[in-house]
Amino acid sequence: DYVILGNKIDEGHRNFVMAYNMLTGIRVAVSGCSGVMKSLSDSDFRSTKKLTFNADGSELTPSSKYDFKFKDYCPEVFRELRSLFGIDPADYLMSITGKYILSELGSPGKSGSFFYYSRDFRFIIKTIHHAEHKQLRRILKTYYSHVKENPNTLVSQFYGLHRLKVNGGMKKIHFIVMNNLFPPHRDIHLKYDLKGSTWGRYTRIDTTNNDKDKDGKEEQKKDISDYTLKDLNWLEREDKIKFGPEKRQIFTQQLEADVKFMKKINVMDYSLLLGVHDVKKGNSLTTEKLSVYEPKSNVRSELFKTNPRDIDRGVDLPRSVFPGRSKYIFYGHDGGIRATDEEDKPLPEIYYLGIIDCLTNYSFKKRLETLWRSLSHSRSTISAIPAKEYGDRFVNFIRAGISTNKVKTS
Ligand code: ATP
Ligand code: CA
Ligand code: CA
Repeated sequence: DYVILGNKIDEGHRNFVMAYNMLTGIRVAVSGCSGVMKSLSDSDFRSTKKLTFNADGSELTPSSKYDFKFKDYCPEVFRELRSLFGIDPADYLMSITGKYILSELGSPGKSGSFFYYSRDFRFIIKTIHHAEHKQLRRILKTYYSHVKENPNTLVSQFYGLHRLKVNGGMKKIHFIVMNNLFPPHRDIHLKYDLKGSTWGRYTRIDTTNNDKDKDGKEEQKKDISDYTLKDLNWLEREDKIKFGPEKRQIFTQQLEADVKFMKKINVMDYSLLLGVHDVKKGNSLTTEKLSVYEPKSNVRSELFKTNPRDIDRGVDLPRSVFPGRSKYIFYGHDGGIRATDEEDKPLPEIYYLGIIDCLTNYSFKKRLETLWRSLSHSRSTISAIPAKEYGDRFVNFIRAGISTNKVKTS
């Protein structure tokens, strides 16, 4: 009894073969990269591993229904990263490839990337452009150090970088595996994608029922929670991130460290993805029923170790409900942050947030836009701004979005 967000991909789905090959490739590559961990060397940041799949199979690969080639980038580095992020290797394989169930989130961005959820919704596979792929390879070492030095980093957690080659090498598909910022077991009542820019950053909300879409391609949107709101919606609704002094300080400090990193690697166009769970509204029945993967351990201290990216798990739920009730077992994985008031006392909202889409290199984007402008003879719409300016504007916007009811900290 599965409840699937997005479209479930099964045989017959137009992307079934691609999804199947992705998962098969990951499964074989990741399970082949076990054994003892050694400390990483420079060559690990350059190494790649190729696997060829076909009906015959080989020493390294099982027989496969489809012919394709799979390339795994820097497997040792990503294994180490998964471990830093607290992902258990067996859990990872189970979630990603346990059964070939994935669901597709259409193409939520403008970039044309595809998004897939793992069956338990903990992980997201995103297809990326070659330029983004190159960018990640280029910065992998810096990224690795950043993650090591910042256990609470808000930046996307990358768990794998891979390539699929199909049609006899005619088509290459690059993709990453990363964390789903949103928990599978809690409803997100409000969702924002914030960049700090206001140009075109408005989502028009239409919650009137629209029957003509019923059997059409567009999914019917009924509620504000079905939309991803943007910067102008944020300002219009006068929403705030409610953090008391303690969290405000920790959060701002981390945000600044992360943006410093983004400037260093010369990227822009990233956003703060923010999901708000309203504790008073609670969960819908669908979410309650959602069957998700059970982590091996329900020992509280173990769960706390599984994902270091949190600011306070301790005060989030009454201690008494943990660990006895399995309902809250995923708590250790979800990394949500409880809103607090000026006395640092909990408020009935939980934030799920992180910095996403951080592989757009400024020089690449600028080159594209310059080319486009020269073709269209237009001088307008320059959205590429240098990484430093982008970062400063981003931090300023988010900082201004954190509630400060009383004394200003400066
Ligand atoms: P564009 O470049 O046009 O912004 P994109 O294809 O690069 O689009 P993203 O910005 O990475 O896409 O993501 C688009 C949307 O997908 C986000 O606004 C968010 O709703 C969802 N999404 C992306 N990454 C995650 C994540 N890690 N966890 C949860 N949701 C995500
Ligand atoms: Ca984006
Ligand atoms: Ca993008």
